[in-house]
Amino acid sequence: MSAPKTRRPEMESIRFTCQRGCINCCTQEGRIYITEDDLVRAAKFVSMTPKAFEKKHVVRTSHELRFRKPRKKQCPFLVASGCSIHPAKPTQCRTFPFWPELLEREVEWNEAATYCPGIGQGPLIQIAAAMEIAEEQRSAYPHMYIVEA
Ligand code: SF4
Ligand code: SF4
Repeated sequence: MSAPKTRRPEMESIRFTCQRGCINCCTQEGRIYITEDDLVRAAKFVSMTPKAFEKKHVVRTSHELRFRKPRKKQCPFLVASGCSIHPAKPTQCRTFPFWPELLEREVEWNEAATYCPGIGQGPLIQIAAAMEIAEEQRSAYPHMYIVEA
């Protein structure tokens, strides 16, 4: 059986460009899921071993990895100037807002636009390019995109 693919967006055109100085997506309530590769990359970026990084920053369950949530903020790596691990940020941060669930439903895309000022700005995005990013998100976090039979 082949894995489900991201559906073509309901929108005919998409504009997006991340806004300098904005950190809104990092302050939304929700978990920051990471992949095994994300863990290794982020650990290297902060000069820690993956094991030490995991012990300090990661919650591991049987089917997922996520950053430990600090008190009073959503992400341990969010600082006043923005993301302190920007070059090594997790896949879900890098692929936002081109997540399958946002791309496939205009209502969700518009909801994301209420906190992401980059949505609707900048040049037109090629639908195929956006879907490719959504596919990367889907395959990085398969447990989040299980399709019920
Ligand atoms: S890892 Fe960086 S981009 Fe991702 S939520 Fe944390 S601060 Fe934001
Ligand atoms: S909320 Fe949107 S504009 Fe702001 S940092 Fe996130 S992706 Fe960029």
